[in-house]
Amino acid sequence: MKSLKEINILGKCYSIVPCSEKYGNSEVLGQCVYWSQFIFLNHLLKKDNTLETLLHEVIHALEGEFKLNLKENQVRTLSVAMYSVLKENPDIWKMIWRKR
Ligand SMILES: [Zn+2]
Repeated sequence: MKSLKEINILGKCYSIVPCSEKYGNSEVLGQCVYWSQFIFLNHLLKKDNTLETLLHEVIHALEGEFKLNLKENQVRTLSVAMYSVLKENPDIWKMIWRKR
């Protein structure tokens, strides 16, 4: 999978950095540091988990920007659900990118 280096979130450029962090006994899939505009993604993830984790971290960035104060479980639910909807409905992308 081609690696994405940056992503624009609300007009701000976030750097996407591969990582392999471990905290305690659990492997970290990703982390968003919205105030410094970094998204870390575990480099060991396969394509679907990478994209779902990226979406998860984008939601964390939005949460930080809008002070939504979401619980981790809410972020996880939104990212899994949104990834599923976007993956199962590729025509959404065609409609968004269709020239007017
Ligand atoms: Zn999270």
